[in-house]
Amino acid sequence: MAKGNQRDYYEVLGVSRTAAVDEIKAAYRKAALKWHPDRNPENKPEAEAKFRESTEAYSILSDQQKRQVYDTYGHAGLSGTSAGVDFNGTIFQDFHDIFGDFFGFEDMFSSSRRGRGRSQRGADLRYDMTLTFEEASAGVATKVKLPRQEYCEACNGTGAKKGTGVAACQTCGGRGQLAYQQGFFTITRTCPACQGTGQIIRERCPECRGQGRIEREKTIELRIPPGVDSGTRLRVAGEGEPGPNGGPPGDLYVVLEVKEHPFFERRGADLYCTIPVSMPQAALGTELQVPGLNGDEKLKIAEGTQSGAVFRLKGKGLADPRGGGKGDLYYHVRVLTPTKLTREQRKLIEELGASLKVENRPAERNSSIFDKVKDIFG
Ligand SMILES: [Zn+2]
Ligand SMILES: [Zn+2]
Repeated sequence: MAKGNQRDYYEVLGVSRTAAVDEIKAAYRKAALKWHPDRNPENKPEAEAKFRESTEAYSILSDQQKRQVYDTYGHAGLSGTSAGVDFNGTIFQDFHDIFGDFFGFEDMFSSSRRGRGRSQRGADLRYDMTLTFEEASAGVATKVKLPRQEYCEACNGTGAKKGTGVAACQTCGGRGQLAYQQGFFTITRTCPACQGTGQIIRERCPECRGQGRIEREKTIELRIPPGVDSGTRLRVAGEGEPGPNGGPPGDLYVVLEVKEHPFFERRGADLYCTIPVSMPQAALGTELQVPGLNGDEKLKIAEGTQSGAVFRLKGKGLADPRGGGKGDLYYHVRVLTPTKLTREQRKLIEELGASLKVENRPAERNSSIFDKVKDIFG
């Protein structure tokens, strides 16, 4: 998702920077009602974009922690995985979560989407998957077996026995919904007798017992791109549950969990690891074989390398699963102070110490560790 030219969240919702949560919620409700794609059939792409934008703004500004991050750092502060919002496909679910407590609201949309006896989109499915660090790094093609509801072919998903047809639901008079008056509001509920379809089956399909769907195990092939991280969500279009009454299927979301590596620490696409070197190696310089992501790498420790020095191998980090460039690989040098000296070693160090003078005064304040980064060439 492009973060380049995003509008200010307060501007999106038309509220002041000091607006209270209730005010933000009210502003969002208004925007959502106005821009919900179901209510703008003649201008769907624009409505969907506006709806998405206001939902994103709402999800940030209604969360105290995220709002604070946004107030302090703007959009850039939210681009990390934990604070950012990934609306990839679940926008209507997020929307549902937000408005679950607005009476009548949810049903209003679901019924408008269902319509009278119209087909409905199937439910999205979530599948959690754990990958090793190596699998996540290299990408992997795998297969998963999912128990799921499949469209019943015997009745074309209608649930009615072949040739028996359907009748209008008597509970709701075929409207698919029931309306109640409560104060100022008319609360519309999905009819429980016909689940909003407005139709009742005369005789059930024997194959699916009137469900229109049958539970089967399906094998789905997954291609996981290299560089994915914990929390990455992959969408497999059309592999969710089938829609009732022959409606289109939902999507499958594969949510990834990536195990940690024993010594590579991951920050985005960059990798960090610590390499211990001995005092003589640091003082005299040396060349080391160090583990990289794809086999060993050469790491040249220059003469007089200090503890804490950081070397960078450009482009040797993880891939960007969205197809961008590669991250870098950082080696952090730690000079080990010898312990448990033999008598002879102690004597040598004492001799060395006598000829090495250091002023034990406070050193100048150190700026960021990245000032010490040295790129490794060749
Ligand atoms: Zn009904
Ligand atoms: Zn059937």
